[in-house]
Amino acid sequence: MIAIVLAIGDELALGQTVDTNSAWASARLAGLGVSTLKHVTVADELGPITQAIRDAAAAADLVLISGGLGPTEDDLTRQALADAMGQKLAEDEPSLQRLAAWFDDRGRRMPDRNRVQCLIPRTAQPIDNPRGTAPGIHAHLDKAEVFSVPGVPREMRGMVDDVVIPWVQDRLEATGDQRVIRTTKVNTFGAGESTVSEMLGPELMDRDRNPKVGTTVAGGICSARLRSEFTTAEEADAALDETIAQVEARLGALVFGRDETTLQEATVATLIDKGLTVATAESCTGGMVASMLTDVAGSSAAVAGGWVVYSNEMKRRQLGVPEAVLDEHGAVSPQVAALLAEAARERAHADLAVSLTGIAGPGGGTEDKPVGLVYLGLASSDGPATVLRLSLIGDRAAIRNRSAKCALQALRLTALGASLATLHWGTPVEPTPA
Ligand code: AMP
Ligand code: MG
Repeated sequence: MIAIVLAIGDELALGQTVDTNSAWASARLAGLGVSTLKHVTVADELGPITQAIRDAAAAADLVLISGGLGPTEDDLTRQALADAMGQKLAEDEPSLQRLAAWFDDRGRRMPDRNRVQCLIPRTAQPIDNPRGTAPGIHAHLDKAEVFSVPGVPREMRGMVDDVVIPWVQDRLEATGDQRVIRTTKVNTFGAGESTVSEMLGPELMDRDRNPKVGTTVAGGICSARLRSEFTTAEEADAALDETIAQVEARLGALVFGRDETTLQEATVATLIDKGLTVATAESCTGGMVASMLTDVAGSSAAVAGGWVVYSNEMKRRQLGVPEAVLDEHGAVSPQVAALLAEAARERAHADLAVSLTGIAGPGGGTEDKPVGLVYLGLASSDGPATVLRLSLIGDRAAIRNRSAKCALQALRLTALGASLATLHWGTPVEPTPA
């Protein structure tokens, strides 16, 4: 079964309100194995809404429309649906009685304007709305079943769950057209989307593959999106598991978790699992790494503490970076990153420490040390700290966020005993002895 989801409203088309209804409804339908072909957003204009309904009904088995069922002049979905069906609107007596009772129950007189909400195309069925005043409409048009539901998210969700989903389930059962869709995300950090798709390889990325694998990036986190579609849950689950294993094998230690797992959760879990404690010494990120680590409930088992050493004086006074090193190499240098990490580890009595010193911009960059240059130090019991040079792109917020995430991933990789070379965005540098 193929669906098209329409969202009606000036506020949506103008960008004042984000269309959350279509996303929510499509995810619900996907859970039943119904694929949504497209989302269409239309302003409160009769002609374009009518056209969108006609087009959708010609292309999909199920058309779900949210919005435009209110009592005011700009609520035009009812009329547009009737026009698309080539019918007149007629008052539905039971709906009118229910609506009158709805106002009665609340001790209010029903405004005349609300009467229009009980108009539906002649051959359509009203859908009761226990959460508000606008009844929904169920109609048949072209090859499609059309469900028109209110725009208010709470009412929309209620009506979809009460009426549309059960109807779809019945239809799928009756036609033997059941499809089961299972999806998952495999999350990585430390390489760009093109690198990740190269690592996955053409066989896994083939558009005709089932389960299908695609990539998506948000906040520097590159995820492989997997979608498995079969007739039974057993097949869908088995194929998904097999593809997850292939994806994870190809991406290796870059992978920190699945679905909603965050990098900080994965990092803290790994540290706790390995029985390791950690300290932080941050300059350009101003405490973001410590904040992210302690976002995770239970992080006290792994996080010792940390320093925010923004000025040279604090780097010197708090973590003992010699003035001569700061003078000779500058605060943004592999030498300072190494010394900060080593001092933090020692002073916090931690197993591991991570440091960050860099140029987040927008000002302060030079030819030698451009904006986005960040040194990451990682100290462990193995001896002198390892230093990575990061060359990050983006604005100040992005550079700071990516730096902090690189620190988390570096901690996680070290705790796992994996190579820091896994972090593609970092180049190992040998600090010349300070
Ligand atoms: P309507 O049924 O068009 O009168 O919509 C009522 C209210 O619901 C609007 O003012 C919006 O605030 C909200 N709304 C309508 N459509 C959507 C949508 N697609 N996503 C999120 N909110 C919506
Ligand atoms: Mg509206």
